[in-house]
Order: sequence, then C-alpha cells, then structure tokens
Amino acid sequence: MGEFDLIRRFFQRPVHRAALGVGDDCALLAPAPGMQLAVSSDMLVEGRHFFADVDPAALGHKALAVNLSDLAACGARPLAFTLALALPRAEAAWLQPFAAGLLTLADAHGCELVGGDTTGGPLNICITVFGEVPAGQALLRSGAQAGDDLWVSGTLGDARLALEALQGRIALAPDVLAATRERLERPTPRVALGLALRGVATSAIDLSDGLLGDLGHILAASGVGACIDWPIAMQLIAASQGGESAEAGFDAELLRQCVLAGGDDYELAFTAPPAQRSAVEAAGRQCGTPVTRIGRIEAGSGLRLLDGAGRELPAQRWASFDHFA
Ligand code: ADP
Ligand code: MG
Repeated sequence: MGEFDLIRRFFQRPVHRAALGVGDDCALLAPAPGMQLAVSSDMLVEGRHFFADVDPAALGHKALAVNLSDLAACGARPLAFTLALALPRAEAAWLQPFAAGLLTLADAHGCELVGGDTTGGPLNICITVFGEVPAGQALLRSGAQAGDDLWVSGTLGDARLALEALQGRIALAPDVLAATRERLERPTPRVALGLALRGVATSAIDLSDGLLGDLGHILAASGVGACIDWPIAMQLIAASQGGESAEAGFDAELLRQCVLAGGDDYELAFTAPPAQRSAVEAAGRQCGTPVTRIGRIEAGSGLRLLDGAGRELPAQRWASFDHFA
C-alpha cells in the first residue's frame, strides 16, 4: 500500500460542512457569518503520550478527543480537523482500527477530516481542530473574577490511577483497572458542556496536565487567586469510592497526586459568578455531565488548598506535569 492508497483508503471521506476536503493542496472551510474560527493542535508521541502496544482504536479516539477537549474549553462547536501522521509501517491491520476509532468520535461530533499529511517515521499523531464560536463569546482563561465560584466537570484522577497500575507501581482490582483505563485511553471531551457554558462561565480551561497546574493558568491569565475545598476535591476521584477510606486500599498521598496533579483527565475547570449557580447546574444536567463546585476565586494571587477545618495544605507539593521541568 503506497502513501496515496493509504490516504484514499483510510482517510478520504466525503465532506458536508467544509467546501473542500482531502485531495487537493488545501482544504477550504467557511465559518458561518458572525462566527470566529477556534483553532487548536495537539500532538501524541509514542513513548511519551501512549504505549507502543496501545489499542489502535483507542489511540485514534484519544488523538481526536484531546483536541476536541480544547474546543470544549473555549465553548466552540467542532467543524473540521486535519491529521498529520508519521507511521513506521503502512499496515492495514493497524490503520483500519485506528481510523475507525478516530472517525467514530469525529462523526459523533460532526467534525470532518479535511486534510493532513502522511509520512514514514516513528509513530506520531498531530491533529489540528477547527471549531466555530459566535464572535466575542469564546470562553477564555482570562475572564475569572474575584468572588466567582470554581467548578470542575466529571471526575478527576482516574486516568492517572490507571497509568500507575499499568506501569506496575500499584495494583488495582480488575473492575477498577478496567474503568480507570477507559478514562485514560478513551477520554470524553466535554464539548456539549463547553457550549452550554457560553454566556454562563467567566473562564474555562480543559484539564490535561493536572488540576492545580491547569487552574494556575486561569489564575495567571485572570490576575486572581483561588482557594479549593480539599475534602470536596478529593471526592472527585471516581475509582476511590469514598475518598481515602482504608478499604479502598490506596495510599492517601497517591490519591492526592491523582486528583490534584493527575493529568489526562480532559474535564473542564471553569469559573462562574454565584448568581449563575443554578444555570451551571442546569448546563451539567442538560449535558448529562456532573459539575462540582470545589472552591472560589479570590482577589490577589496564589492557590490555597483548605482542609475541612480551614487549615491550609501545601499546594505546591502537587505540581503539574511539565515536559521539560
Ligand atoms: P502535499 O504534497 O500537497 O502536501 P499530500 O500529497 O501530502 O499533499 O496529501 C495529499 C492530500 O491528502 C492532501 O489533500 C492532504 O491534505 C491529504 N492527506 C494527506 N495525509 C492525510 C491524512 N493522514 N489524513 C487526511 N488527509 C491527508
Ligand atoms: Mg505532503
């Protein structure tokens, strides 16, 4: 199978929204009048973001999911994406499930594959997504205000727990491993929630590197501080079933790591004024995504973690993932 057969066979599909898709030198896209294009790229590198033996269907899903998560964080509706792929070999047995995982998620979001590039080389997947958002209505990192509530969607830390188990550092019961592994390998981008939060949230970010670190980006961009109610945040780890109970069999410090600095969660962290609490809850219900109020935005700077008695915990201990730190 040559390069162009490969593209035709696995990646050339009819387009509906785009004016021109795969097959020419450029794709052509027209955002609707009054809309802005939201554009984001994310790259997945073997050995860094996934294991060499990962299920190709899950990898296809995740490569697009992490990109759709960025659109979700901006409150943008997915339109189209490009796929730049370096592959060690052109193997149908790998490409077929990879394309199926990728395109099933794409179809679920009406996001069309309109172009890309294909080359030989160590496995590397780079996707650029295009979304649209009414001009001026994108959710940004810079809009948080002192007094806003701080919210998180879904659950946190499950992906990291799976990673710890897959790398042999902890043992998980088979059902817990299966559930957390699903979170790690097939994350759900919160696209519907991002759309529902337009005009409700004052700022948003998607959680790819860990709650404390990613929240730090909102605080820096908005010029504010925040405090997190730590016992509430610790309930966000689904797999622990009741936080740090001894029966759960997890080390308390590991659970804190998972929730506060886990990475790969692809949930949304966002802020909204207290007057919007019922609107936020309605948005969560409408999308079938739980939302939890874990703290509030404060004037000043810095992030404080408070235990049940109002004592401060050393937040800097749970720093986020940084590829070059
Ligand atoms: P060029 O040489 O002009 O860069 P290519 O020969 O690389 O174009 O690609 C031919 C067509 O196939 C282009 O429309 C390109 O966008 C598309 N394409 C290449 N690789 C992929 C891929 N992995 N997924 C989707 N479209 C692709
Ligand atoms: Mg090319």
